[in-house]
Amino acid sequence: MSTKNGSGKYGSGGKDQSGLSRRDFFKAGAAAGVGAAALGAPAVVRAQGAVSPTDGITWDYEVDVLVLGGGCMGLPSAIRARDLGNDVMLIDQNFDLGGKMLHSGSQTSLGGGDPLQLRDLAGESDPEGFITVPPLHTAEELTEDPDHLFRDMTDWSIVDNAGQAPYRYNERELHRAWADNCFATRNFLLENYVRYSRISGTHGNGGMTRARRASAFLMLGDKTDIKAGTVTQEDAGIRNTSNSHFAPRVMGDASSVVGPGAVNNGAAMARGLEFSAREKGVKIMLNRHMDEIYREGQFSGRVVGVQASYTPRIPPGSSEPLQSYYQQGNIDETRETIYIRARKAVIVATGGHVGNPQFRSMFYPAMREPAWGPSAAALIGEHAADASGIIAGMRVGANLAGMQQNLSYGATAHVRPRLATRDAYTDMYPGHPTFPFRGSTGFAANANTFEHFIAVNQVGKRFFNDMDLMRGNAAGTQFPGGTNVPVRGTEIVQADWRNSSRDHIRGMYNRYAGLDAALQINEGSQPPDFLPGPLWAIFDEGAVERAELTLTFPWVADNGYFFSADTLEELQSMINTGHKYQRVPMTHLAETVARWNGFVDAGEDADFGRGPDAPMHKIEQPKFYAAAIVIVWHDSYGGLRINGKCQVVDMEGQPIPGLYAGAEASGGGNQHGLGRGVVHAYIAGTNANEEPVS
Ligand SMILES: Cc1cc2nc3c(=O)[nH]c(=O)nc-3n(C[C@H](O)[C@H](O)[C@H](O)COP(=O)(O)OP(=O)(O)OC[C@H]3O[C@@H](n4cnc5c(N)ncnc54)[C@H](O)[C@@H]3O)c2cc1C
Repeated sequence: MSTKNGSGKYGSGGKDQSGLSRRDFFKAGAAAGVGAAALGAPAVVRAQGAVSPTDGITWDYEVDVLVLGGGCMGLPSAIRARDLGNDVMLIDQNFDLGGKMLHSGSQTSLGGGDPLQLRDLAGESDPEGFITVPPLHTAEELTEDPDHLFRDMTDWSIVDNAGQAPYRYNERELHRAWADNCFATRNFLLENYVRYSRISGTHGNGGMTRARRASAFLMLGDKTDIKAGTVTQEDAGIRNTSNSHFAPRVMGDASSVVGPGAVNNGAAMARGLEFSAREKGVKIMLNRHMDEIYREGQFSGRVVGVQASYTPRIPPGSSEPLQSYYQQGNIDETRETIYIRARKAVIVATGGHVGNPQFRSMFYPAMREPAWGPSAAALIGEHAADASGIIAGMRVGANLAGMQQNLSYGATAHVRPRLATRDAYTDMYPGHPTFPFRGSTGFAANANTFEHFIAVNQVGKRFFNDMDLMRGNAAGTQFPGGTNVPVRGTEIVQADWRNSSRDHIRGMYNRYAGLDAALQINEGSQPPDFLPGPLWAIFDEGAVERAELTLTFPWVADNGYFFSADTLEELQSMINTGHKYQRVPMTHLAETVARWNGFVDAGEDADFGRGPDAPMHKIEQPKFYAAAIVIVWHDSYGGLRINGKCQVVDMEGQPIPGLYAGAEASGGGNQHGLGRGVVHAYIAGTNANEEPVS
C-alpha cells in the first residue's frame, strides 16, 4: 500500500525529468480503444479486488473541490467553485500559474449573443472606458443566439482547405451546453479582471458564420496593476529585446481592437484570472504534479482524491527552484508525495497530450519522434501536456472522446518557420525565468527565406521542396468563403451542401504535405519505432548576407539547435555529437550539398522541383550553418469524454461521481483552445458545487 511517507513514484528529488516512459505508458494501457477494465495496474493499490484503493492512505490535505492544473480550464473553474462558497485547492506541476494560456494570444471566441457582441452591437465602450475604437463588425455579423451558435459548432457541411471537417464530429450534448453557457462565461471572465477588446472575426474553429473573437488587453501605464488594468512597458515586454516574468511573450499592440496604449495577449488573461483566484482565497500549491486519481473502488464509487508529487523547476545553470510571480495563497509544500482528499469533486484541468510522444502517436505514429516537443515547452516544463490527467482518468474507468479530432485542426502538428530553438511556436526573449530552458529565441524564416536554405533529414538528405515546407497548413486554414475568419457578412449558409461540394473542395484545397514528408521513414529510421529524426536547415555565409540573418544571441545560442563550422564535414560531426536527439550521423550531408549545387548550376531541381520560380543559390561559401527545423504539436484534441455538465463519463456513458474535466484534457470538441476551455471551466465549477459532500 502506498503511504504518504513513501519515496513517491518519481523517487527523491522530484519527478523523473524524462516524463512518462513508453513502458509506463503501455503499462497504463493507454492505447486508443482499450477498455478501462483492460488497463494495467499502475500503482500497488490496484487489483486488490474488494479492497478500496484508498485504504491505508492518510490524507495530507482535504478540501471541497480540488482542481488539477492552473491554466485556461483550471483557474476559472477554481474561481467559479470558490465563488459558490467552496473550499478550493488548485495544484499545478509548474512553478507558476497560467499554463499555455499565459503563453497564448488570448483570442477567445465565444458567441451566441454574448456580452461583448451585445456591447459592440450597442456601440458602447467597456465600463472603464479603455476601448476607444468603434465596433469592427456590422450588426448582422454580431447578431446571433445560442441556437445559431450550436448549429454552427455542429455544422456537417464545413470542410477546411485541407479537406478536413472540423465541426461534424463535435459532441452534440457538450456543444449545446457550451453554446448555452457562453454568455455567462464571458460575463464571469469580465468580472474576474479579464478585459476584452472589440470583437474581431473569429478563429480556430470558432464557428464560421458570426464574429466572436476578442483578445484580453491591458493598458500601458506607470505600474503593473491588475485592478487598475495597467501594465508597464517593461512587464509587457520589449520586442526584440526582453521579456518579463509577468508576460513570457511580448504583449502585442492592441490599438486596432481597443485603442492607443492597449496591449494584448495571454498574460492579460492569465494574470487577471490568477490575481482574482488568489484574491478570492483559492488555495494554491505549485510544483505539484497529480499522478493518480483515487475512487472508492478501482472502477466504482466516487472520486475521493489524488496522489501528487513534488516537481520543482530548476533552470540549467542554477540550483534554485523557480518562484511564482504572485505568491499570495501559495502553500509551501515540498514533500515528495502527498495525498489530497476532495470532499465534493476533482476537476481535471491538466491540459492535453502534446508533450507525450507515446500518447500523441496514437494519432500519427511518426509523431512518436521525441525531437518534437509541445508549444510553450520552456514555460510549461517537461511534465505539462504529458496526458497525465487523461491517463489518470482512464485508470479509474473514464472513456475517451474525439480522439480523431487531432487530425482536423490545421495547426495541430506543423513545421514551424522559427528556426534554431526548441520552442519554435513562439518567440521569447531573455528576462522570463524560463528562458534558460530554451536558451535561444530562434529566428523567423518564411518560405522566402528558405530560398537560401536546403532542408535535410537526419541522414542529411533533402526530402521535400524546401520552399513549400514552410507553407503546409500553417499557411492558414481557408474555409468556405476563402478566409479563416467569418467572411464579411454571413455568406456561409449553415448546413448548405455547397460548403462541402466536391467542386468547392477541389477549388480551395491548398495543403502542402511537407509535414508528412518530414515524418517519412528514412535511411536512419531504426526499428521498432522507425523514428524519422530531427530536421535541419543548411546554409552558408552567402545566405546570411543575402537574407540579412542575425545569428547572434538571443536569436541563436550554443544549445544544440544551431551550429556553424568551416566545413560541411565539421558541421556534420558537430550535429551528430552535440544534440540530444541526434541519433545518426548526417552521413549524406556533403553529398547532398554537392548534388544541390549541381542543380543550381543546371537551373533546375531534379529531385523536388525548385526552379526559376523559386531562386536557387549554391551552398559553398564558409561558414556553413545548421539551424534546427522543429515540428510543433500545438494543441491537442481528444481526451476524457465529458457530458454537458463536464462530468467525466465511463464506458457505459455514466458520469463518474465527483470527476470533472475540460479544455485539452477532454475530448469531443474541435474548437481551438481558450474558447472551449473557459466555458468548460465555468460549467465544471458550477456543477462541482452541486456534488454531495462525502
Ligand atoms: C503560444 C500559444 C498561443 C496560443 N494562442 C491561443 C489563442 O490566441 N486563442 C486560443 O483559443 N488558444 C490559444 N492557445 C491554446 C490555448 O492556450 C490552450 O489550448 C489552452 O490554454 C488549453 O487550456 P488547458 O487548461 O487545457 O491547458 P493549459 O492552459 O496549458 O493548463 C494546463 C495546466 O495544467 C498543469 N498540469 C499539467 N499536468 C498536470 C498534472 N499532472 N498535475 C498538475 N498540474 C498539471 C500545467 O502546468 C498547466 O498549468 C495558444 C497556445 C499557445 C502555446
